[in-house]
Amino acid sequence: MAGFNVRSVLVTGANRGIGLGLVKQFLGKSNPPEWVFASCRDPKGERAQELKTLASRHPNLAIIALEATDPASIKAAAARVEEHLKSSGLNLLINNAGIARLNTLESETAEDMSLVYATNVTGPLLVSQAFLPLLKKAAQGSPQPGLSCSKAAIVNMSSEGGSITNLFAWQLGQVVSYRCSKAALNMLTKCQSLGYGGDGILSIAVHPGWVQTDMGSSPSQQAPLTVDMSVQGILNVLPTLSKKDNGAFVNWEGKVLPW
Ligand code: NDP
Repeated sequence: MAGFNVRSVLVTGANRGIGLGLVKQFLGKSNPPEWVFASCRDPKGERAQELKTLASRHPNLAIIALEATDPASIKAAAARVEEHLKSSGLNLLINNAGIARLNTLESETAEDMSLVYATNVTGPLLVSQAFLPLLKKAAQGSPQPGLSCSKAAIVNMSSEGGSITNLFAWQLGQVVSYRCSKAALNMLTKCQSLGYGGDGILSIAVHPGWVQTDMGSSPSQQAPLTVDMSVQGILNVLPTLSKKDNGAFVNWEGKVLPW
């Protein structure tokens, strides 16, 4: 991880769970990024308290308002990040924000299908579109050949629950809207890899493991991974990725997962 030299990173949904863990580990690196942009829905509210405490100790942490279902909020976030970066680009965009609804095939609703899709698929699409100019700038300004996460990359936080082959944890919950959304996010990742690879931007879908967060909590069984374990794994995997991994679906240990 020490060899992972990212100058700037933005994490969505950074006020709790895996997103907050990513922000903490980026800030704690021996060679931290010049800018860590932690986006959350309500930077002024109680839910952002941990981020605010971190920002008081880390001048390279900027808290950015970003609601993933609101195109205007996403555009405003990109503009704010650009102000901070001045003439540099953004190296790493981590589309981490996501929601799940504990519905079954019987109880699933049109409203939840739409909301989960809007958050988990349309959100990452629009966020990537809005930050594309900054990612391109990072790629163009980098002396590194090929593709890498330290040059310019989009990391979409997916789930093995969206793997049509593996259908992770079906017995624990059908979560139909969530599974469909992550399968769609995997397709979005593949499309982004084809569309943006030529611009020097790597796109990857990452399954963080089953993690002890609000989302990962189950009444019947405890998730095996702490946030720290998952995030450490992810941050070990990201620097190993290159052109050959563009558009792949990998887990927190770097294992390629089937679609
Ligand atoms: P949490 O529920 O703990 O946190 C979700 C984060 O996303 C919160 O910061 C939340 O903000 C934010 N968020 C939700 N909706 C929006 C929105 N519309 N706009 C902006 N931010 C939003 O989830 P995890 O940390 O567990 O999950 C992070 C990612 O990892 C998700 O994409 C999830 O699908 C994926 N994942 C998690 C697994 C696990 O076991 N935990 C397993 C596989 C994948 P707020 O506090 O405002 O609600």
